[in-house]
Amino acid sequence: MYDVIITGAGPAGAMAGKYLAAAGKRVLLLQKDLSFKKPCGGGLRIDAFDEFDIDRKQIQCIVNEIVIESKKSHITYDISHSPLAIVNRVTFDQGLRSDAVKAGAELLEEKVVNIFTTETGVKVETEGKAGKNRYEADYLIAADGVHSFVRKQIRREKIPAYLTHYSEIMSLKTTKCHFYFGTSISKGAYGWRFPYGNGSDVGIAASQHDKKYIDALFDIFGLKKDQKIRGYKIPVWQEALFYDKRIFYVGDAAGQVLPFTYEGIYYAMKSAKILSEVIVEECKPEVYKERWNHLYLKKFSILSRLEKLFLHHDFMIHVMMKTLEREEVRKKLLTLWMDQYDIRLNLRFFITIFKNLFR
Ligand SMILES: Cc1cc2nc3c(=O)[nH]c(=O)nc-3n(C[C@H](O)[C@H](O)[C@H](O)COP(=O)(O)OP(=O)(O)OC[C@H]3O[C@@H](n4cnc5c(N)ncnc54)[C@H](O)[C@@H]3O)c2cc1C
Repeated sequence: MYDVIITGAGPAGAMAGKYLAAAGKRVLLLQKDLSFKKPCGGGLRIDAFDEFDIDRKQIQCIVNEIVIESKKSHITYDISHSPLAIVNRVTFDQGLRSDAVKAGAELLEEKVVNIFTTETGVKVETEGKAGKNRYEADYLIAADGVHSFVRKQIRREKIPAYLTHYSEIMSLKTTKCHFYFGTSISKGAYGWRFPYGNGSDVGIAASQHDKKYIDALFDIFGLKKDQKIRGYKIPVWQEALFYDKRIFYVGDAAGQVLPFTYEGIYYAMKSAKILSEVIVEECKPEVYKERWNHLYLKKFSILSRLEKLFLHHDFMIHVMMKTLEREEVRKKLLTLWMDQYDIRLNLRFFITIFKNLFR
């Protein structure tokens, strides 16, 4: 019998495992494949390493400049005062799991295949190399990602998501993070090119499944269209799902990916930390939702609205690029991104900027 069973040991599950075990909870962490490589650009704000006490050896490279491009504009943005770290998701996830185990969590390579909830707890059935197993706990944390089995079984629902197409291209080198905007590349999101080993990880996220979008990105780099492409979903935040009887949801399984930028690693770990504190303090489940909403609801709502406003039409992308050409706007956006902001002051600032643009 455990206090908490966690399905999925990506950033959300591993982090919840670490914090709960360190607080003395009996934790079982179930991960279906310990060598799984989560499809991901691996971009993570650098302050996360101190905030979650993650070994900086995990950083593959540090990005000091981002480049934002559309058909008509090209803006280079110095972020050296708050750089972006790039991690390799195989070693990063393994490192987080090993921290959870050091804190006292039990980690098993087993796939969750069935869940039963009762008035007092949860029962979980798994399949592993040694066969089938059954475990019981007071609570279950669903940290099993965008294809969440828990969410499908318990709520009979899929998580709203965009489909990404991406490719690792070793002949294409970069030390910067590039973002490409335009409806020929992505309607509703963007294309990217991030450092990956000695090459680049390139891809697009789009609301529609059509190979023409990734082909348009390959055209920018002068690449042939026969690159090896992988596809994977990424949640589109609408309203996060927090809990359901004895089950808590966290990370992609909860839909907690920041709109517009599509960062999920930081928010998966942060939500896991908030949730762990709520469980350890024995608060009511709704306190998890209250604390998360207090920190992020406004930020997520505003970015979701901006994404809908700007990223679906080339004219609006042009307006956005014009706005981003102003240094004071870029500085403000960086403070928003790093959560060092007063949202009302910033809203007033952006409304003034837009008024000036349309004058
Ligand atoms: C192409 C792409 C690029 C991205 N780039 C970035 C980026 O640069 N920066 C960023 O911040 N975010 C990025 N994201 C988003 C980021 O990858 C996710 O938001 C993040 O991984 C969420 O962490 P998680 O722990 O919630 O879920 P996951 O990382 O998906 O972890 C879930 C884990 O659960 C396991 N699992 C699933 N089902 C079961 C089961 N039945 N039993 C046991 N285990 C199970 C899986 O194997 C997996 O290890 C990107 C996403 C995509 C698709």
